Amino acid sequence: MRGFTFAKPNAAIGKNCGGGTGAHRYSAGMNPSRPPADFSAWGAPAQQRGVALLANPLLNKGTAFTERERDALGLRGLLPPRVFTLDEQMERSLASVRRKSDSLEKYIYLTNLQNRNEILFYRLVTEHVEEMVPLIYTPTVGQACLEYGAIYRRPRGLFITLRDRGRIAEILRLWPQEGARLIVVTDGERILGLGDLGALGMGIPVGKLSLYTACAGVHPNYTLPITLDVGTDNHSLLDGPFYIGIREKRARGAVYEDFIDEFVNAVHTVFPKALLQWEDFGNTNAFRLLNRHRTTVPSFNDDIQGTAAVALAGVIAALRLTGGTLRQQRLLFLGAGEAGTGIADLYVAAACADGLSEAEARRQCWFVDSKGLVVQSRVAELAEHKLPYAHEHAFLATLGEAVHSLRPTVLIGVSGMPATFTREVVAEMATLNPRPVIFALSNPTSKAECTAEEAYKWTDGRAIFASGSPFAPVEYNGCRHVPGQGNNIYIFPGVGLGALISEAREVTPAMFLAAARTLARLVQPDDLALGRVYPSLTKIREVSLQIAVEVARVAHDSGLARCARPEDLEEDIRSRMFVPEYRDFA
Ligand code: NAD
Repeated sequence: MRGFTFAKPNAAIGKNCGGGTGAHRYSAGMNPSRPPADFSAWGAPAQQRGVALLANPLLNKGTAFTERERDALGLRGLLPPRVFTLDEQMERSLASVRRKSDSLEKYIYLTNLQNRNEILFYRLVTEHVEEMVPLIYTPTVGQACLEYGAIYRRPRGLFITLRDRGRIAEILRLWPQEGARLIVVTDGERILGLGDLGALGMGIPVGKLSLYTACAGVHPNYTLPITLDVGTDNHSLLDGPFYIGIREKRARGAVYEDFIDEFVNAVHTVFPKALLQWEDFGNTNAFRLLNRHRTTVPSFNDDIQGTAAVALAGVIAALRLTGGTLRQQRLLFLGAGEAGTGIADLYVAAACADGLSEAEARRQCWFVDSKGLVVQSRVAELAEHKLPYAHEHAFLATLGEAVHSLRPTVLIGVSGMPATFTREVVAEMATLNPRPVIFALSNPTSKAECTAEEAYKWTDGRAIFASGSPFAPVEYNGCRHVPGQGNNIYIFPGVGLGALISEAREVTPAMFLAAARTLARLVQPDDLALGRVYPSLTKIREVSLQIAVEVARVAHDSGLARCARPEDLEEDIRSRMFVPEYRDFA
């Protein structure tokens, strides 16, 4: 083991270790400024016994505490006598989830399990990832956010409101895990495709951080979900009985800006090694905040950059079915927000690396927004992030006209508007392309621009289809088509892990490009044979590991890493990943 390995958790359990600041958690010779080699060594219990131990979700094993542990830790009598294994507990929890017919009820059950016993929760999620991810994340998390006030049981993460101005650092210091390294923060303005949900948006940072642990092995003790409650313009929430946020109109302008500045500076001061993920901010703020703060604290916006990488990976993988090169593709987007322009920007970076000039690469990307085709004649009314894609062309009012006129090879839906990829639009794509690439990426499922079945049916089974939320496989004309899930779950856990472990000073576009290429490379011939341009979700931990390796490589190669380069990046990262297994405390 390395010199900076954490002490074994059982070194402290049930004993008086002195200190009380957490410093006693480290073994001699360890450098606490380095991330632990072994994420899973976090959560070492200090003097926790009996009921307090059972109430700590990071340490509680419930019925799996052994006879010796029960005696040593004051647990005898507090638990039913039979000792279960972790796998037996998992089977019991799985049966409980499956007994519930309603997804939201399953979400509530899983949330409670997470609050009770994190190892068991993560064991269940990692062993049954395809079944559990849609329950703890999209699409169910959308419904959970809508109902977050009504189903609220106990706090997870930090709520920081406008009323906390001047004392944000103080609030961050209340967080009990002294080494928060990974923060996902939202202001709740654009939750999935559901719009402004204010403080109810907390379900998203909580869910994303669960995915970091389940899919990339970041120890839960490292993670901190934060909601910045700056009010909401959603009147039905403000007037509703169970709304949990401040009942004020959403702050804008200088008040908002100063609040975010204070937050970022507080993170930098209290958690100097933290990586910050901006999540589900409205697009009037998202681009500006990212540009303003991305070098103050290492940070990225998953909706812009994570989505970009996952979509680009899908396009690169699809080339193995369609033939042709990246630079030859013409991309038409429905929706010119964070996701759409983020994807286009990364495509431009990739196409430039492929030999196109930046102007040529941008000219391959076209956008239809809520008002029609984004063109030069509209520049006076266009938001800044759309300007690079306002090409010289006659204005066209509809997507159908744009498809007909521009002849795209790839059609990407990131509008949050369901049923906008109509039969005419999809059929036209099939007229133009032997294998049309059609990605309906809007979340949750109810917002997808078209369904998987429609995409296959309207193209006579020729579409290469992916969606943001999962769709079931489709039988069409005797063929089984498996839609890929073009969700950034494939990207952000690996990018975050790689940036964390290399202690990257910044998270750069080059890292997302590396992530996209790695993800595309991991798509197997048998995936493609089914029409799926993403690997199976069952491989997510290996995918995240490989992405983390490439991201860390970019960090080291570009001088952005703040730690020494290990001899073997892959082995180093693999050895640091959290594995949901119980430790022997006795
Ligand atoms: P955004 O608010 O920044 O952008 C939405 C864009 O859609 C805006 O340009 C808007 O003008 C446009 N739009 C709205 N109505 C339209 C219409 N009727 N026709 C054409 N365009 C219309 O939001 P975003 O962050 O870009 O996200 C958009 C969607 O993409 C959401 O549903 C979100 O859930 C989804 N998304 C999916 C993933 C994924 O992993 N699959 C990741 C990020 C975002």
